[in-house]
Amino acid sequence: MSGILDGKIALITGGTGGIGKATCKRLTKMGAQVVSTYLGESKALEMREQMKEQGCNIAIYPCDVSDFDQCQALAESIQNDIGPVDIVVNNAGITRDTTMKKMTAEQWQAVINNNLNSVFNVTRAFIESMLERQTGRVVNISSINGQKGQFGQANYSAAKAGIHGFTMALAQEVARKGITVNTVSPGYIATEMVMAVPEEVRNQIIAQIPVGRLGKPEEIAALVGFLASEDAAFITGANFAANGGQHMH
Ligand code: NDP
Repeated sequence: MSGILDGKIALITGGTGGIGKATCKRLTKMGAQVVSTYLGESKALEMREQMKEQGCNIAIYPCDVSDFDQCQALAESIQNDIGPVDIVVNNAGITRDTTMKKMTAEQWQAVINNNLNSVFNVTRAFIESMLERQTGRVVNISSINGQKGQFGQANYSAAKAGIHGFTMALAQEVARKGITVNTVSPGYIATEMVMAVPEEVRNQIIAQIPVGRLGKPEEIAALVGFLASEDAAFITGANFAANGGQHMH
């Protein structure tokens, strides 16, 4: 596996979270220089140390991806410090679950800003350099709940469904320039977020998954790694479900 991404620079937003960390590790093992954004500094420093112990050298940059100007500044800093970014993985995301009757404007806006506007902010900051160099990979992390909807997640489902619309439109714009844009839609993955759900509820979720278990962050990371590689050059505008068979269409 080593060497496939040699010489490439990969940016993973929210690389300090469950799926993000596994993706940072995977892309590093494939040879890329990986850069992760972070919000919480102590968590990011701890993650960088942990990764170092595992032989992965990750660069970390503070950036609130819901803020357009911070994303522009991030692109400039990475370009100056490390070089042009070849691979962007839009992975940062949040949830603010509640039924429509109770949802506040703040809960709606926070989820749209952090999960969907962030994809525009980050991609916009890096796409021009990719177009100039006629090479690039954009991988957007959506969710099974963007594909099927989910009770109590009108904000999250809307943002995640919006991500794939973005993917399909941008894929068409940049296809001739050697850039691919794809969506990965994970099902329930055993990250801290899902493991924090009471065991009884978690078991109810697992009962709905045909393969009979939660997904592993590494299984999402492996798919992202493939999409980031040269082997995936003919795949663009696609939405990959990785959900253990929980939702098929
Ligand atoms: P985590 O909560 O573990 O990680 C989310 C990451 O996003 C954190 O590193 C967080 O940083 C970062 N983040 C959130 N908001 C911002 C922001 N405004 N600017 C910069 N960074 C931000 O989540 P997961 O690893 O579980 O999820 C990763 C992605 O996968 C998300 O988009 C999620 O919606 C999606 N997903 C997850 C599933 C699951 O089962 N876990 C299922 C389907 C999709 P910090 O900690 O510093 O705040």
